[in-house]
Amino acid sequence: MKTDSPTPIVKLPVLRGYTKEFYDWCHQRELRFQRCQSCGTWRHPPRPMCGSCHSLQWEWAPTTGTGKVYCWTIVYQALDPAFANDVPYAAVVVELDEGPRLATWVTGIAPDQLYVGMPVEVWFEDLSDDVALPKFKPAEAH
Ligand SMILES: [Zn+2]
Repeated sequence: MKTDSPTPIVKLPVLRGYTKEFYDWCHQRELRFQRCQSCGTWRHPPRPMCGSCHSLQWEWAPTTGTGKVYCWTIVYQALDPAFANDVPYAAVVVELDEGPRLATWVTGIAPDQLYVGMPVEVWFEDLSDDVALPKFKPAEAH
């Protein structure tokens, strides 16, 4: 049903702490994740301590931005009005080649064309002056 209400706005992340640091890298078109400086384990979402060795030493390590579709679910009913025009869409978990996984979108392909292991590469969508959202698209053949 069409209404006269204003177009809903996607809620932007609150930029503070680790979230701000993650999105600052995205704004620079770099997809970085925390990596433990003691044992090398990648982690996401960001947190202060390594889940493998309990070290508090870590860095924002760069990734290649390439990975594979790990899993997804198709959303048919938008729970947030901001996504009403996007349904049906796939909420996808991508596993980066380096190992961390990210809940994201795969664009440029219909949800029913996704498959486990599909090669994908990151691109960034500017949502505001400060927030660039990492999304993925099918990787080009090399
Ligand atoms: Zn560690």
